[in-house]
Amino acid sequence: MSDEIKVCSVPVFSEGVESSELYLVGLTAYLWIAGMTLRVRFLDGEPIVQKKVEVVAHQWSQFANIKFQFGNDLNAEIRISFTRKGSWSMLGTDALLVNRDEPTMNFGWLKADSPDEEYSRVVLHEFGHALGFTHEHKHPESGIKWNREAVIDYYRRTNGWNEDATTRNVLQAESKDRTQYSAFDRESIMLYAIPAELTTDGFSTGWNTQLSATDKQFAQRLYPGTPPGAKITTILYVRPFDGRTFGPVTSSQVVSEGDGWRGWSWDGSTASYLAVDEKRQTWLYVRPFDSRTFGPVTSSQVVSEGDGWRGWSWDGSTASYLAVDEKRQTWLYVRPFDGQTFGSVTSKQLVSRGDGWRGWSWDGATASYLAVG
Ligand SMILES: [Zn+2]
Repeated sequence: MSDEIKVCSVPVFSEGVESSELYLVGLTAYLWIAGMTLRVRFLDGEPIVQKKVEVVAHQWSQFANIKFQFGNDLNAEIRISFTRKGSWSMLGTDALLVNRDEPTMNFGWLKADSPDEEYSRVVLHEFGHALGFTHEHKHPESGIKWNREAVIDYYRRTNGWNEDATTRNVLQAESKDRTQYSAFDRESIMLYAIPAELTTDGFSTGWNTQLSATDKQFAQRLYPGTPPGAKITTILYVRPFDGRTFGPVTSSQVVSEGDGWRGWSWDGSTASYLAVDEKRQTWLYVRPFDSRTFGPVTSSQVVSEGDGWRGWSWDGSTASYLAVDEKRQTWLYVRPFDGQTFGSVTSKQLVSRGDGWRGWSWDGATASYLAVG
């Protein structure tokens, strides 16, 4: 088959059980439990190819609350081979029905020198099946007007599939009442490329190689909770506030690839803020900020050997801040600060019997702060 096209063929494990397939569009009964760690073991394959597969697979865990733990656990739920024909995966928990020595997923054409785009397309797609997502072109409301004869002829020619296989993999729409699904998504990683010659109205799509916005949302919907690979970033927002009402955001930017910032103060030209480092020490930084762009740091110092500071305010001469003590009580401190050096504490009081205060601002007359219930 010189013109073989590389499409994924979903194995049907339970003979005669048509609805054992899942859709982006997911069949609830085949979903894993949200929060689970699924063990993944390679049965064969070159280390470089295995590594490439692993890196791509973890992308799902930025959106689905499922962790893929790659290793050599003999009881791994997902077992990958590169030696079988084609690329395919068992759907969701159907993987548990496969003999322990046998693969639940196969990548028949991935080689060390396959393009990164091909790894992205095929690995995201097969791991989508492993999470319980079926082919998007079988969406109950896809609206695709298949030219049935052309489709059967096309896959016989390109993949050697008989009519039954093509019906199962392409033509047969999923039943609405056995599936959960979002609106048909032509950008889904779970959709085959569709040449115009296969539809009666000229509809066509190319190969999708990345998770679509809907793929990401759907992964989170079917596997709710904080995804293990969620990227946490801290964003700085600037917007008007008259004491009661917020105006629109005038500036926003990522200030940290983590969640270690603990306090923030800004007088319109100079910003000062607290940030926790990897040793859990808290640093105070002072630097120019014009509402969009930061200037170089003019002062930095360790203010705490822990990460218990929760708020920070500075008007150029007086600093006030919240700090949690070892009993998890929150104290407010006021003391002089000239941008480099602290003077002695002029006021200290207990403001909370817990550690739920998260921000603090004070201009000498009015204070504002955040408190977690
Ligand atoms: Zn597939």
